[in-house]
Amino acid sequence: MGAPGAGKGTHGDIIAVKHSIPHISTGDIFRENIKNGTELGSKAKGYMDKGLLVPDDLVVDLVVDRLKQADCADGYVLDGFPRTIPQAEALDAALEAAGGKIDYAINIDVPDGTIIERMACRRVCPNCGAIYHTIAAPPRKEGICDKCGTALILRDDDRPETVKKRLAVYHEQTEPLISYYSGRGILSTVDGTKGSIDDISASIEQIFR
Ligand code: AMP
Repeated sequence: MGAPGAGKGTHGDIIAVKHSIPHISTGDIFRENIKNGTELGSKAKGYMDKGLLVPDDLVVDLVVDRLKQADCADGYVLDGFPRTIPQAEALDAALEAAGGKIDYAINIDVPDGTIIERMACRRVCPNCGAIYHTIAAPPRKEGICDKCGTALILRDDDRPETVKKRLAVYHEQTEPLISYYSGRGILSTVDGTKGSIDDISASIEQIFR
């Protein structure tokens, strides 16, 4: 969990690789659907471009179905889901019915001012989803993805006006999940501004130990 730009995608990827489990990012699933011109993609795009959340009913079934796939049997990292209390409740109900549960909720804490600065510098690969920061984590060749050689872009929803809206939506609809998961005794918070990506990753690994 964390505000837009807190590092969910970056650390979701690192955890997935380290523990050999799938990284399930609802934002990536929507972007993939937009790229492929699907009906879900066209429904989601209108909300995403405005900095709003996609309605719960378009997200929950998608994730619950994904978690039933064989590669999730030994665990998974959810990134960007749940993002509302109804999504968290629907996830808990679906997992309980299947005899599963969420083990860890990790909140990456970053103040709004830092988020706004960070997003202006974030560049993503529209092909493979790799994430860069023009100053803190630049690609080897400016503007080009290290992994697949595609030209990097600034996401439409990373434009400053949209980021401000997304932060407001985060505080209103997603932040209540901090109490939800701390009430269940599984919440840990890491400072998403302290140290390098590797330092933050080490703090996250400490939680699993
Ligand atoms: P992200 O890449 O996680 O920042 O997600 C990008 C955008 O996708 C968000 O700003 C939302 O519009 C949409 N989105 C992603 N995950 C969810 C979710 N769990 N619930 C509603 N909307 C979502």
